[in-house]
Amino acid sequence: MDATDETAWLRERFSLPSGRIYLDGNSLGALPCATASRVAEVVERQWGEDLIAGWNRHGWMEAPQRVGDKIGRLIGAPAGSVIVGDTTTLQIFRLLGAVVQARRDRPVIAIERSNFPADNYIAQGLAELLGGAVELRPVDVDDLDHLERVLDERVAVLELSHVDFRSGRIRPMRAIQAVAQRVGVYTCWDLAHSAGALPVALEAAGVELAVGCGYKYLCGGPGAPAFAYVRPDLQDQLRSPTAGWLGHAEPFAFEPDFRPAAGIRGWLCGTPSVLATAALEVGVDLLLEADLEALRAKATALTSLFIEQVEARAEGLLGLRLASPRHDEHRGNQVLWRHPEGYAVVQALIDRGVVGDFRAPDGMRFGFAPAYVRHVDAFDAALALVDVLQNETWRRPEYRRRQAVT
Ligand SMILES: *Cc1c(COP(=O)(O)O)cnc(C)c1O
Repeated sequence: MDATDETAWLRERFSLPSGRIYLDGNSLGALPCATASRVAEVVERQWGEDLIAGWNRHGWMEAPQRVGDKIGRLIGAPAGSVIVGDTTTLQIFRLLGAVVQARRDRPVIAIERSNFPADNYIAQGLAELLGGAVELRPVDVDDLDHLERVLDERVAVLELSHVDFRSGRIRPMRAIQAVAQRVGVYTCWDLAHSAGALPVALEAAGVELAVGCGYKYLCGGPGAPAFAYVRPDLQDQLRSPTAGWLGHAEPFAFEPDFRPAAGIRGWLCGTPSVLATAALEVGVDLLLEADLEALRAKATALTSLFIEQVEARAEGLLGLRLASPRHDEHRGNQVLWRHPEGYAVVQALIDRGVVGDFRAPDGMRFGFAPAYVRHVDAFDAALALVDVLQNETWRRPEYRRRQAVT
């Protein structure tokens, strides 16, 4: 399968440690070969030699829009609708805040009950800040009938993840969008586990708002800037609550009062992180060279091979329970197995060079970033998982000690 894989060339463009099967690219993407020299160039030549002239000479100021446009091509968003910066969490704050400010006749934000906690924490913080003017309504986005019942004219916006961070379930964007639009509810999609992982068509689906993460499938490096999408017709109707000087119409006029720039630039806040954005651009450029449809097909083959091989070998399944959708179409690029000793099993696997992660309470998560994971890796990882369970190597005390990052 690897010999006939048309996307296999892409793996050579990553700097991967030998002897390790890396199944955590959904949490921290691998390092592209070109990143180190690119960042060194920006540091040594652009910053070191040109100093402040770098802002004009090297397109530093435009980087959030330039890289935003490139990400837009990966998520089906038109030029001028995506901006890079800050963190995913802060981008959610900005977008939700803008919506509730503009739609005061709709005092409810619907949030996905089981979403990545940060998405809900920041919504809670926003509701508290607004002192009772806004109420949160937790909903189950995997039940369309329920969604139809709980979304009404009081709801300003529904905030949800496109791909569930634990199970990897892909939410039907068009169907959910249709339910929301029927009652005029905006949607704000978190693309943390879909941007660069699978084809996304924001514009075609009519999505109002979206955010995403730079350090996962986009391979921008630890803490890479996030991004936000605002549908073009809404960019000037909504207003970022985090008004900052670089989102001002004329930052260098130094006017006393805020006047937003037209378009997506009005959604900027402060000075862009030039070094981090340079690293992110390398990852995004690399994915733009690839065919996302082909990569998604490969990821589906990888996850189904992994599930199939584990299930064929783990007699009685050894306490494992598949928590990801079995249906290829509904499964993102990751597999979640539940196991009561999941934490220790993941540690035992990492010790053998198979790197996945643990998601409380009992989830063992394995991400198959198709840009650099091979079929042989999926096969070997399945064998290793079954071996750790059969021989109960997870029982060793050192595998049970919890670390800060799981
Ligand atoms: C990874 C992830 C985040 C990360 O947020 P940051 O603020 O960029 O750290 C947010 N939401 C989801 C769904 C994620 O998977």
